[in-house]
Amino acid sequence: MIHVVHHPAYVTEAPGRSTYRWGKNGAIRDLLIAESERIAWHEAAPMPTPWLEATHDPDYVAEVLAARVPPVKERRIGFPVTPTVATRAAMVPGGTWAAALLAMEHGFAANTAGGSHHALHDTGAGYCVFNDLAVAAIRLVEEGTVDRLLIVDVDVHQGDGTAALTAGRPEIATYSIHAEKNFPARKAQSTLDVPLADGMGDDAYLATLESTLVPLIDEMQPQLILYQAGVDPFEDDRLGRLGLTLDGLARRERLMARLAIGRGLPLASTVGGGYGDDVMAIARRHVDAILILGEAFAAR
Ligand SMILES: [Zn+2]
Repeated sequence: MIHVVHHPAYVTEAPGRSTYRWGKNGAIRDLLIAESERIAWHEAAPMPTPWLEATHDPDYVAEVLAARVPPVKERRIGFPVTPTVATRAAMVPGGTWAAALLAMEHGFAANTAGGSHHALHDTGAGYCVFNDLAVAAIRLVEEGTVDRLLIVDVDVHQGDGTAALTAGRPEIATYSIHAEKNFPARKAQSTLDVPLADGMGDDAYLATLESTLVPLIDEMQPQLILYQAGVDPFEDDRLGRLGLTLDGLARRERLMARLAIGRGLPLASTVGGGYGDDVMAIARRHVDAILILGEAFAAR
């Protein structure tokens, strides 16, 4: 079975004045329901506020939870933080954390949302409100669930918030492979950044991913990988600048599974970027990633 964490609160109506296309999480849920004989469903719980405050500025956490985020921050996020959005924002890190625990138990688990890697200490940014990867990682190490973990971020945009929020914590390493010229203009410093030239295709991308990630895994010896499996390196993505085909994305997930399974490493995945007008096609790419990873672990 493939262990999947979801919550109805992930699926929200688009708030007004939003530049983000909503509806992806509902489509992901529906596509996974169609695979239900393979899926073990788990419901996320909200991340307790003290853990949100262990990562983000408590004043910002309070602004979000009360749905009174200043307009300047809402513009940076890309949509207004309504009460519904606030509920969702606290739920998603809970789901990523739950997926991590399930991965520790079963080898692999997926959160059907998350990967909010642009959220920073005192503000959200780039369609991200709270940084579920950093919040979950900090809770996992502070509670002693793991001594060391690695966040692997293959979204086409740099994981700047994750890098900034986990800086100075040697138990948490961050890896980001991204299009160098893409958002954010000002990059943060991950443990290892792999900036790529525009238009890079499957073979060069996969060779670069493997040759840079393997030494980091082998040096750090993490006990868990949190995997931000953004699908925006796809060649037709509206906000991507890379040239991966659908086959290239599938090969990427098989590579990640092989690297983790070969080292006995649990892996918990989140979704991430994926942009365009065809929400169902984007959801299909996220679901394919979950199914490829899940099947590989189930067959190990
Ligand atoms: Zn992205």
